[in-house]
Amino acid sequence: MRLSRYFLPTLKETPSEAQIVSHRLMLRAGMVRQASAGIYSWLPLGFRVLKKIENIVHEEMQAAGAQPVLMPTLQTADLWRKSGRYDAYGPEMLRIRDRHDRDLLYGPTNEEQITTIMRDDIRSYRDLPRNLYHIQWKFRDEIRPRFGVMRGREFLMKDAYSFDLDFEAARKSYNIMFVSYLRTYARMGLKAIPMQADSGPIGGDLSHEFIILADTGESAVYADKRLLEMDPRADDIDFDADLEPIVKQWTSLYAATDEKHDPATCPLSADEMIEARGIEVGHIFYFGTKYSEPLGCTVSMPDGEKRLLHGGSYGIGVSRLVGGIIEASHDDAGIIWPDVVAPFDVALINLKSGDEACDAVANDLYAKLGDAGVEVLHDDRDERAGVKFADMDLIGLPWQLTVGPRGVKAGTVELKRRAGGEKHELSIDSALSRILDFET
Ligand code: ATP
Ligand code: MG
Repeated sequence: MRLSRYFLPTLKETPSEAQIVSHRLMLRAGMVRQASAGIYSWLPLGFRVLKKIENIVHEEMQAAGAQPVLMPTLQTADLWRKSGRYDAYGPEMLRIRDRHDRDLLYGPTNEEQITTIMRDDIRSYRDLPRNLYHIQWKFRDEIRPRFGVMRGREFLMKDAYSFDLDFEAARKSYNIMFVSYLRTYARMGLKAIPMQADSGPIGGDLSHEFIILADTGESAVYADKRLLEMDPRADDIDFDADLEPIVKQWTSLYAATDEKHDPATCPLSADEMIEARGIEVGHIFYFGTKYSEPLGCTVSMPDGEKRLLHGGSYGIGVSRLVGGIIEASHDDAGIIWPDVVAPFDVALINLKSGDEACDAVANDLYAKLGDAGVEVLHDDRDERAGVKFADMDLIGLPWQLTVGPRGVKAGTVELKRRAGGEKHELSIDSALSRILDFET
């Protein structure tokens, strides 16, 4: 993509409404614009990151055996009246009336909807287990939308729903999601720690929030230091195997948010514990027959008996993750994207756009990188070097490849890694192969 044609409205000034660094940087980097309180438009750069995160979530969910579907944003109130949640949900639910005076709502989550789908079309115990998920916009009329996309009113969520015959089978489905979540966040360069969460009216211990550490997080967290050293992607995973031992490895170490933390029962000494702040980026939950019962979601057993399905739901805050990743990875100059979610791989900076020799080298690099499948944002604007470097540091692409008149004469370009900041003056070919070796 040529920057001269790209819609990238970066800002020099820090917008006064933004209280945390990710929100400031997302506005300054031209990723999002607020449409109204807690509701955002995603501009080209932000949208690319959102899609990258979505893709990772899709791949990891499907690797774990979940199947993508797409349910609507609007749901009928009747469906929620049946489960009893229409009244229980309170003012966070956006209620809408259509022209026929029918009550609708903008879905804050989809348990009722998916349970109905299962009920209508699943027949036999042989059809289980099933796990269906979608990535869809949700609306929750948060009393205090803030921190940009971190606590929006409209936000993008991945929500998966598992259906099983009994508790033991549901626990297996839960464990699969538990392990899959750890791997998903790790793939995005995040250290997410699973923490026991309230499981609501059903009780039991099958409810975990996945929390990443960040100074601006909304909850205080207390966790065993050893959790930070564990690498969920160190080994290949067979999702058909018994995952209980892996889940135990994680859950046997203490980790709790302020909601659950109790200094009296916490087994850790001060040296063994991280005390920090955290952002909830996902939540998994076993809810048994909470929805299958009121909605009549059953399958037939061999003897003709009808059995209620046991469900679990598994959320990931996809749009919140964009902010979360920035909270975890930035410096004073701007964002530092982990490679896998970066909107482009390379910032190709032509310091003297319009100069024949510089243009020739830059265009050639652009073509070669593009042919190899590397995503390049080519800064071909007629701007001062300082502006170009500042913009590229701000938007945080992993590589900066700079073409300038002096280097071009000598046959060299400068290659900088945004993360470490180290710069190398290299021949054009070796700069190219260094990027290609890494990216392809
Ligand atoms: P929170 O405690 O942050 O309000 P929640 O417990 O209500 O979240 P869940 O119902 O568990 O949220 O939703 C699953 C995920 O969706 C959360 O883990 C979070 O990452 C994301 N999420 C929830 N609410 C918002 C929001 N208002 N804006 C952006 N993401 C959200
Ligand atoms: Mg939650």
